[in-house]
Amino acid sequence: MTSEPEEPVLSAEPDRTEVLRLLGMHRRRGAPGEVLRRLDELWGEGVSSLRPRVWEVEVPIREVGRTGVTVGDGVFLRSRRLARALGEAVRARVFVVTVGHGPDRLIQRWTTQGRVADAFFLDAFASAAVESLVERYYRSTAELAAGQGLGVTLRFSPGYCDWPVQDQRSLFSLFRDEDLGVSLTESCFMTPRKSVSGVFGLAPAQPGRVGPPPAYNPCADCGKHDCTARRAATATPDPPAPLEGAGP
Ligand code: SF4
Repeated sequence: MTSEPEEPVLSAEPDRTEVLRLLGMHRRRGAPGEVLRRLDELWGEGVSSLRPRVWEVEVPIREVGRTGVTVGDGVFLRSRRLARALGEAVRARVFVVTVGHGPDRLIQRWTTQGRVADAFFLDAFASAAVESLVERYYRSTAELAAGQGLGVTLRFSPGYCDWPVQDQRSLFSLFRDEDLGVSLTESCFMTPRKSVSGVFGLAPAQPGRVGPPPAYNPCADCGKHDCTARRAATATPDPPAPLEGAGP
C-alpha cells in the first residue's frame, strides 16, 4: 500500500460557467451584469485563497460482495453500487482532495463583516474549485492508467447514492498514519468543508476486447429521478457534483 500527496498539485481554478451554475444562473440566457462584474472582482481573491492538495492510496480489492466491497486489510465499504462498479477492477484508488481552509475562513470573515452576497459567491466559487480539482485528478489518473492498459470505473463518494456518509471513517482509515490535511467531524463531514473523498477502481482490458470495460453507471437504470447526483446515462466516467464536505 502506498500513500503520498501529489506534487506539484493540480490547479483548482474553476470554470466560470460552473460557478454560475452553482449560483443558480445556468438556466438564464446570461447572468445579470452586476453579478458577472462582482464575480470578476472577487475572482482573484478566490483563486488566492485556494490551497489545492491531493492524497491518494491504492489498495487491493479483497472481496466484492452483494452489500459492499472489502478492500485493503479488510476494510468493508457498504455500497452495493460501489461493489458492482468495482466488480471488474483489480485495485481501488482511494483519494481525498481539498482546496484548504482559505475559502472557509474568507467566507466566515465576509459573513461577519456583512458581505453576505460576496460570501455566497465565494462559497459557490470554492465548491466549483474543489470539483474542478477532483475532476482533474481523476482524469489525469485515467490518462496514466490508459497508458498501462487499464481503465477507471466511475468514482463514488461516501454520502452519495447508497453509500452511507459514516463510511468516511472507513475510507479515511485506509490512509493509516498519513498526515492528511483533512479531518472528519463527529457527523463525518470533512474539514475544510471544500474537500472531496472517494474511490474508483482500476480495471484491466478484457481479452478479445480493445480498451478497458465500459464503466458501470448505476444511474442508467435508477428510478430516483429527483437525485441531484444523477450522472449522464453514458459509459463515460462522468462523476456527480460534490456534496459539500461529505464527498465529491
Ligand atoms: S440517480 Fe445515480 S447517484 Fe442518484 S441514487 Fe440513483 S444511482 Fe445513485
